[in-house]
Amino acid sequence: MRAVVAGGGIVGLTSALALHRSGIEAVIHEQAPEIRAAGAGLGLWANALAVFDELGLGEQVRAIGRPAEMFFRNHAGELIRPAGFAEDDHRYLLVHRATLSELLADAVGREHIRLDSRLVGYDETGTGVTARFGDGTTVEADLLIGADGAYSVVRSLLLPGSDAVEHEGHHAWRAVVRPPEGVTVDRGVIVLGEERTRGGYVPTVDGTVYWLVNQFDADPLKGSPKEQAAERAAFLDTTGWNPALPALIESTPDDEVLHNQIMLVPPLPRWASQRVVLVGDSAHALSPHITAGASLGVEDALLLARLLTSSDRVAAALAAYEQDRMPHYRQVTELANTVEDSATPEEFAANYVAFSHWMLNR
Ligand SMILES: Cc1cc2nc3c(=O)[nH]c(=O)nc-3n(C[C@H](O)[C@H](O)[C@H](O)COP(=O)(O)OP(=O)(O)OC[C@H]3O[C@@H](n4cnc5c(N)ncnc54)[C@H](O)[C@@H]3O)c2cc1C
Repeated sequence: MRAVVAGGGIVGLTSALALHRSGIEAVIHEQAPEIRAAGAGLGLWANALAVFDELGLGEQVRAIGRPAEMFFRNHAGELIRPAGFAEDDHRYLLVHRATLSELLADAVGREHIRLDSRLVGYDETGTGVTARFGDGTTVEADLLIGADGAYSVVRSLLLPGSDAVEHEGHHAWRAVVRPPEGVTVDRGVIVLGEERTRGGYVPTVDGTVYWLVNQFDADPLKGSPKEQAAERAAFLDTTGWNPALPALIESTPDDEVLHNQIMLVPPLPRWASQRVVLVGDSAHALSPHITAGASLGVEDALLLARLLTSSDRVAAALAAYEQDRMPHYRQVTELANTVEDSATPEEFAANYVAFSHWMLNR
């Protein structure tokens, strides 16, 4: 069996790796000239680490990360401790996105990755699929996996009219920096602030720090991304208890502040045809306030590989995948919405850990 994977993000790379481990040939086509991930941190939860363990990569992933805990503080710096949850429900591993992508690309094998190769179309027949690329080349395969992210071309062809939509007013700013002189960051601090802001910082494995600022229902943005982040950081500390975050933002070069208007993929009527299937953000770009899109997406990759090896027909495997994943993500979305709609920081923290607990213990 031969698969074409469109997209070399974390989920596309994990998909190809899972297929290889199952004895299925898979080649990734990535539109960018390199396998890269924006310079930011990524929280991987135990469910993602279990996927990497299964793929024989768990130890290597742990070695590039730093264990962290997701506990929130309020704008006055007071720790919020929701009752009834275990420490494990708060634990995750912070990795550099780019380092994880490199590790995964090496594990897949660079010879199985085509760069500068943008999928622009496909033709599906009863016996296979022909993927078409921007440079005019075509590739025949038994299936096409759309791991091409929120703006997925595969999804737009499989389900016309399913474009990702702006999560109105929801923005994220982030960067990874070395702490400036006088700023020591030896633990993570994440705050649920005023004006629907969230943010803080987490130390990484190599002495740098990942800082992040988010806001729901933001007013129209003014100024540079760095100014926008700094303006919102003020809502995360109303009493002057935490000067580290503004200092980290201030020390970040302007062009290293990543800003995202958050995009969501609307609920889809299906995720697959007979020969084409969506994984990761192409199927379910989620709001990052649950910090779980990648952790959930790598589960898609492993499940799909398992079903393709245990089923004698591609179409049956894709149907089984869809039957498993679609109700699962309906529940993810419901729980994520509950977190987003929380009226107070305490409620947000309780709903957040309830989601993590559910994700880790299903
Ligand atoms: C601010 C923010 C913070 C987040 N934090 C976390 C977190 O802490 N933990 C977590 O688990 N998740 C987090 N997420 C979610 C996570 O980033 C995504 O769920 C994850 O990156 C999705 O991976 P993917 O491989 O599906 O898609 P992407 O990472 O978007 O990769 C898609 C790839 O496909 C390529 N591509 C696109 N179109 C084509 C084409 N036509 N042909 C070929 N290649 C193509 C792109 O260049 C890209 O490399 C966060 C998201 C945001 C926005």
